[in-house]
Amino acid sequence: MKINKEWHMKNKMPKNPTLEERIKWHSEHAKHCSCREMPESMRKEIKKREKGE
Ligand SMILES: [Zn+2]
Repeated sequence: MKINKEWHMKNKMPKNPTLEERIKWHSEHAKHCSCREMPESMRKEIKKREKGE
């Protein structure tokens, strides 16, 4: 598990994020950092969007 501190400094999760913001944050996070796993609920939402549902 590696934390990309620089990315985290530049990409703070907004306060009271909407679902869209959380999805965006987590998908970017997964690309740049592996300090924690993406929650299952986020994974599902991202998959849904990839399928265009
Ligand atoms: Zn991270």
